[in-house]
Amino acid sequence: MSDADLIMISALQHAMFCQRQYALIHLEQIWEENRFTAEGEALHERVHRERHESRRLFREEYGMSVRSLKFGLIGKCDLAEIWLEPETKAPVRVNPVEFKRGRSKTNDVDRVQLCAQALCLEEAFNLPIGKGEFYYLQERRRVSVDIDEDLRAKTISTADQIRAINASKKTPVSSYEKKKCDGCSLIDHCMPRAVGSVSRYVRGQIEQCLAD
Ligand code: SF4
Repeated sequence: MSDADLIMISALQHAMFCQRQYALIHLEQIWEENRFTAEGEALHERVHRERHESRRLFREEYGMSVRSLKFGLIGKCDLAEIWLEPETKAPVRVNPVEFKRGRSKTNDVDRVQLCAQALCLEEAFNLPIGKGEFYYLQERRRVSVDIDEDLRAKTISTADQIRAINASKKTPVSSYEKKKCDGCSLIDHCMPRAVGSVSRYVRGQIEQCLAD
């Protein structure tokens, strides 16, 4: 897989949340900040300032750039924790940590993002990764996530869905879901509630033309 085919890990999150949102952002280049996106951006900008901290047999890499040519993914890890073997100092365990600004409420959207980081780190370090963690800043609490087969399959299939959308060059149609759309920063561009009325209007116009 070439670099041009790599899918941004952040794009997986958009596509998991809503495939139309993914296409609006990544195909149509539309982006609108709301309070949640602005706060999230600011947090990750701080965390992604590349730096590392070392103790004798333990290293912390912040803002680490990662990619997987096997799964076609590219992005950044907020934090990679790396344990080293005492004799050789070679990495023996790696743990991806994703920072979240709010309270603990992991969902598949977040878990897929963490799993994608784990897939990239496995390739970089040639080590299996069985767990990752979220760190919730407000609660100063860590929540562990199993990087299991189900989550891996979901992550890979989301990347495949993105490739299919990219190949089609078509933005999926909207369908209004209160819980997700009302918090979406793109609701004014997307107009999910207008779709029914627009299609009714277009159908009416066509019927009128045919009748004339
Ligand atoms: S408003 Fe709803 S349908 Fe439109 S992009 Fe956002 S989440 Fe998707």
